[in-house]
Amino acid sequence: MPLPETPATITITRFPYPTRVVAIVAVNTGGEAVDPDTEGYASTVARRRSWIGSWPVYRQLTGTDRRGLGAAAKSDRSRVARTSTADAVVKSVCPYCAVGCGQNVFVQDGKVTQIEGDPDSPVSRGRLCPKGSASLQLTTGDSRQYTVRYRRPFGTKWEDLDLDTAMDMIADRVLAARRRGWQWEVDGDRTRRTLGFASLGGATLDNEENYLIKKLFTALGAIQIENQARI
Ligand code: SF4
Repeated sequence: MPLPETPATITITRFPYPTRVVAIVAVNTGGEAVDPDTEGYASTVARRRSWIGSWPVYRQLTGTDRRGLGAAAKSDRSRVARTSTADAVVKSVCPYCAVGCGQNVFVQDGKVTQIEGDPDSPVSRGRLCPKGSASLQLTTGDSRQYTVRYRRPFGTKWEDLDLDTAMDMIADRVLAARRRGWQWEVDGDRTRRTLGFASLGGATLDNEENYLIKKLFTALGAIQIENQARI
């Protein structure tokens, strides 16, 4: 496309039918008019060519990537993957819903730096929905909770407990409930079970977590073990 020698106007016309393509009618870089006979003309034209060449729409219209899904949409910044400096990549599963999309968790200096879709996952083949794509915020966001809120029986205020204290309290309660609800026999039949607690899993539990929960609760003698997302 020939560059205008004098200031013109930018006009972008969207075609009347559904399309990603827009047409550039004319271009104005906003500078002064340049006399073609002066020394700075060539460099001004080169600068303008470079400027317009960095515009994805221009590349889309003039190159081979007419749908703007590949080279035309790439910027200089996106040519270096933000995960290229990671020390390790850990395979994981999206924590949000029962689809269970695969994730690659990138770690650098012991910290999670990026979470992306796992191309090896037969479930999602590298894709994540917008919620799964934002998983990094779940692990590193400012609002992540590192304490447990607890209100004691008959208490009127919430208090913060550290995780170790909360885990000890849960273990004490599980053991006490197991003991209270224990049944060696029922109607003369050996049962060796507890009705003191049950497990109801949610959709965000993945296969491995459900497996471990089932193992643990069965080993403790529980018989009421369920998941709301089973199909
Ligand atoms: S990426 Fe989206 S669809 Fe996939 S498991 Fe996570 S929340 Fe569900």
